[in-house]
This record gives sequence, structure tokens and C-alpha cells, in this order.
Amino acid sequence: MKTILVTGGLGYIGSHTVVELINAGYTSVIVDNLSNSSIKVLDRIEQITGIRPIFYQCDIQDKQALTDILYKHQIDGVIHFAALKAVGESVQNPLEYYQNNVSGSIELFRQLKNHNIKTIVFSSSATVYGDPHKVPIKEDFPLKPTNPYGWSKLMIEQVLRDLYTSDNQFKVGILRYFNPIGAHSSGLIGEDPQGIPNNLMPYIAQVAVGRREYLSVFGNDYATHDGTGIRDYIHVVDLALGHVRTLEYLSNASRDNLLTVNLGTGRGYSVLDVVQAFEKASGKKIDYKFMPRRSGDIAACYADTNLAQQLLGWRARFGIEEMCRDTWNWQTKNSNGYTN
Ligand code: NAD
Ligand code: UDP
Repeated sequence: MKTILVTGGLGYIGSHTVVELINAGYTSVIVDNLSNSSIKVLDRIEQITGIRPIFYQCDIQDKQALTDILYKHQIDGVIHFAALKAVGESVQNPLEYYQNNVSGSIELFRQLKNHNIKTIVFSSSATVYGDPHKVPIKEDFPLKPTNPYGWSKLMIEQVLRDLYTSDNQFKVGILRYFNPIGAHSSGLIGEDPQGIPNNLMPYIAQVAVGRREYLSVFGNDYATHDGTGIRDYIHVVDLALGHVRTLEYLSNASRDNLLTVNLGTGRGYSVLDVVQAFEKASGKKIDYKFMPRRSGDIAACYADTNLAQQLLGWRARFGIEEMCRDTWNWQTKNSNGYTN
């Protein structure tokens, strides 16, 4: 059995990944500073899997605490989720984003190197492509983020590429996520944004449950089939399974072990398509109003998924119906998220 250090493991994607790691027979050691997550997630993971992961409330920038953890546990690999992730906030507070995401990652990688831990899977994002010249987006498209959050992801990618060049004993999986939504089918874990949600799906779910009056649809004049923005939504459990597959891929020593892949479904849905699918799944009417475009938004973004299929043998299984169904199940069972 292998032991995986999961930074940010109590967050939205991290918690679902820990569940799938446990299901696949791995032991998880979670490091999270709880800046954007609840300790209750630990109980929920235990309820789902019957196993309580090892947990440390610790910041990845805390050198001494990390060293102690790495001495205490025989770690075989790391999945690095810990980061700040709000695009607008990163524009307001770029230094905080570069400090937490970039400096934090460098500190983490330094500790991993010192402890001879050489398997690293990193949460990157489709935001590194900026406004793509065409869709679907392939991994070799130009990289040109448009905000500090996106730059922080691209900088960490580059650090990892250089680390691999310096020592090709490293095994590095860079995963560029498209738009994760949905929740575990138990309804015990899901996305719990603080304050007013920035992202489409949690906002729709809060309108459906009566916490918000209506959805503001940002722009109806894009060159898309209904004028609203198109994204590649992926079920968070599919995404979690993509991490388990990446660890399996990297454990095969005979391969080229610097991997950069898109994790998406390859299908794009517009804002109004998602509203319609959510209405169907929930039986609730989602009121919406058209508003001007949101600054920095692009018309369409969806993945070319061929590389993930070829290299990892992975593809997303769940469709938009299941994504809406599971979001609704989570939202109705936890109308205020993890807060009672
Ligand atoms: P999240 O905020 O739910 O999870 C991140 C977790 O990291 C939180 O639990 C937070 O408390 C923790 N954390 C942050 N900084 C930390 C630090 N310095 N030390 C220790 N813990 C720290 O976010 P998520 O949606 O689960 O995203 C996980 C990763 O995936 C992030 O790196 C994010 O940038 C990336 N990503 C997310 C999306 C998305 O739409 N959710 C898309 C692409 C990429
Ligand atoms: N969107 C919207 N109203 C909202 C939030 C998002 O119309 O309250 C739109 C947004 O303009 C984009 C799509 O929904 O076209 C997905 O936005 P999200 O913020 O979830 O993801 P991202 O823009 O980061 O891909």
C-alpha cells in the first residue's frame, strides 16, 4: 500500500480525491491550513470510506512542520492541491497569490527533494491557456494567462519542468483541469464556497435552494449557439479518478515521467444549457437575468481530451445530468454547506 501526501486535501477537489485514493487502496496524509475548508470534511470522508485519513493542520510554507511530517511518514508521492484560487481576488492581491501559491509550492518542493520524494502530481488549470485561438484546446497550445492566479499556476508548472530537467528521477504529472462541478453521490462532500459564489454551478445551486434570488448571466452576445459562454464542465469524481490514474501512470518507471494533460470531458455547454440541465435535475425553476459580460471572460473553452485517453487510459464518465443531479443532492442535504 502506498502513502500519498495530499496538500489542500480538505478542499473541494482534494476531499473527493482522498476518497478515491482510499477506494484504490492508498493511505492519505492530508496537509491543509483550513484557509478555505472545514475540518468537518474529515468526518465526512470517514463516513464515506470507513477510514479516517491522517490530517495535519499546517501551512505548506511552514518549513519545520512540513519537515516533521515528512520524517514521521514514509511518503511515496504527493498530490499538490493547496492554493488560493479566486481569479478576481488574485487581481486585487497579487502578492498574496504569488506568495501562497508560488513560494508555498517552492518550499514544498524543496522539502520533498530533501526527503527524496520524487513523485509529484500538480493541480494546474485551463486558465494557463488564456483566450485560446481555437477550441478544443490541446496541451501544446500557447500559454498566456490573463490574471495573477493563472500566472501562479503557469509559474509552478515551469518550476516543475525545470526540476524534472535537473533530475529526471522526478516523476511529474501536471494536470490542467477544466471546470470541476458536482459532488460525491453520497451528498456528504461537495463544493462549499465562502460568501457569494464566483462560479456558475454553486451560484445556480444556491438560486435553486432559495439562498439567492436569480442568476446573473454574464453576457448573451458571445459568438456561441445561444450567445452565452461555453465551458467544459467535468464531474469532480471523474477529476479525482484522473489523479489516481496519474499516480498509476507515474509508478511505471519505464515511461517518460513528465506528463502534462488536460482533464476535461471534451464537451462544451453554454450557461443556458447548464441552467436548463439543472432545472431538469432539480425540478426547480432557475430565474436569471442577462447582464453585461464579466471582465476577463472568454467565449468558449473546452478540452481536447485525446492525450489523457492515450497516455492515462482515462476519460470522464459522467455527463452534465449526473453533474447537476449530484450538485443538487449535495446542496439540498447541506443548504449552508458545512456550516450547520
Ligand atoms: P479549495 O479552496 O476547495 O481547496 C484548496 C485547499 O488548499 C483548501 O482546503 C485550503 O484550505 C488549502 N490551502 C490553501 N493554501 C494553503 C497553504 N498555504 N497551506 C495549506 N493548505 C492550503 O480549491 P479546489 O477547488 O479544491 O482546488 C484545488 C486545486 O485545484 C487548487 O490548486 C486550484 O487552483 C486548482 N484548480 C481548481 C479549479 C476549480 O475550478 N475548482 C480549476 C482548476 C484548478
Ligand atoms: N457565469 C455567469 N454567472 C455567474 C457565474 C458565471 O453567467 O454568476 C458564466 C461565466 O461568464 C462563464 C461560465 O458561467 O461563461 C463559467 O463561469 P465560472 O466562473 O464558473 O468558470 P470560469 O469562467 O472560470 O471558466
